[in-house]
Amino acid sequence: MPRSVMRKYVIMGIQGSGKGTQAKLLAEAFDLVHISVGDIFRWNVQYHTKLGAQVRRLMAEGSLVDDSVVEAVVRDRMALHDWNYGLIVDGFPRNARQAEFFLESYDIDGVINLEMPDEEVHRRVLARRFCPQCRLDFNLIAHRPKVDGTCDACGSILQTREDDQPEALAARLRDYHEKTKPIIELFERKEFVAHVDATRPGQRGDALTISYFFGTQV
Ligand SMILES: [Zn+2]
Repeated sequence: MPRSVMRKYVIMGIQGSGKGTQAKLLAEAFDLVHISVGDIFRWNVQYHTKLGAQVRRLMAEGSLVDDSVVEAVVRDRMALHDWNYGLIVDGFPRNARQAEFFLESYDIDGVINLEMPDEEVHRRVLARRFCPQCRLDFNLIAHRPKVDGTCDACGSILQTREDDQPEALAARLRDYHEKTKPIIELFERKEFVAHVDATRPGQRGDALTISYFFGTQV
């Protein structure tokens, strides 16, 4: 596999579209550094950093983390320059302002937009279950429990997360579309955007397909 090309991608996709998985596959296939902004925040919360405390407080108030805070996190992470062959940014930008900041600050080669119809997102997300006892995740489509409704490991009754209830999901989908549409439009004016059908099976195949969008050979 040729390693001479530098690749800088942004991956976008709705919850349930397999964005994290696709980002990891692409990172593996091309030796890219996977920059997951969500992971950076989770790490900070877990290790009780100053930033983590700030994020916790905002979440407790039900507020979103400020654009300026998110941008500072991205700027610090990008300043590490720890990649040899490129990077894939996941979980950023999330609104038009963040997208403008990103486009002004960094050169990227392309945006991968994983597309999935809302009905399919509903189908996938509403199939999620978890065990309240041992925290194992199940999925009635992809990872069914051996006995309906019960945890394979401990036999507890499986539950649905509050976030995965139909109304909460519908609100998230609306919010996603509202914020994502202007981002995609901004990117399309300046960058190459590959729209990828995320409903197709075969994840390794998807990563390969995505690479062809960018005219690269694997
Ligand atoms: Zn369990």
